[in-house]
Amino acid sequence: MASVLVVEDDQFVRSALIRHLTDASHTVRSVGTALEALREVAHFRFDVVILDLGLPDLDGAEALKMLRGITDVPVIIATARDDETEIVRLLNDGADDYLTKPFSVEHLSARMAAVLRRAGAGGGGEAAVSSVLRVGGLAIDPLRRQASLDGATLDLTRREFDLLAFLAGRPGVVVPRKELLAEVWQQSYGDDQTIDVHLSWLRRKLGETAAKPRYLHTLRGVGVKLEPPR
Ligand code: CA
Repeated sequence: MASVLVVEDDQFVRSALIRHLTDASHTVRSVGTALEALREVAHFRFDVVILDLGLPDLDGAEALKMLRGITDVPVIIATARDDETEIVRLLNDGADDYLTKPFSVEHLSARMAAVLRRAGAGGGGEAAVSSVLRVGGLAIDPLRRQASLDGATLDLTRREFDLLAFLAGRPGVVVPRKELLAEVWQQSYGDDQTIDVHLSWLRRKLGETAAKPRYLHTLRGVGVKLEPPR
């Protein structure tokens, strides 16, 4: 159960969201403008904010920037536009995840669970560096540089391990390719093939393929995410 702020100006979408979230036993507050949202996060503590990008008063990117100015609360962007450049920009600007409308309740719940899990995992404090990351049957120990799948040790190259560990630290979150290049390869630019090649090797070791992904999901033009199989 989480405390959720829904920022959505469309009355119909808004009441549907509130109903679904309340049914899932979350506590919900809702507003219809970005300025009201800023006031809400300044006064109440939320576990997650669902932010519509098409608000009447402020541009979505602007609203996100202002939210980030006052709070670290996880933000899931809800957008009708499936403009990839815009989505990548917002992920880089501090959004934790996004949903493209229309989305299903299951989809929303999955994204929320992932974001909350991540926020919870990070909330434990600095000791988190020594902890083993677990995503489904995957266990990744960043300190010992060991990884296993369903109890069987994975024989990974250094880069494959880094890639897996980085993604496992953000389960369910789409990581933009640019961020992977910067964080795993320490390159500010590079060619997408570098990532694709390592991903395909990693996939093979996890016993999956791009056509039938289990853990590793590639969103064309957007990025990559790791999440437990459904
Ligand atoms: Ca709207």
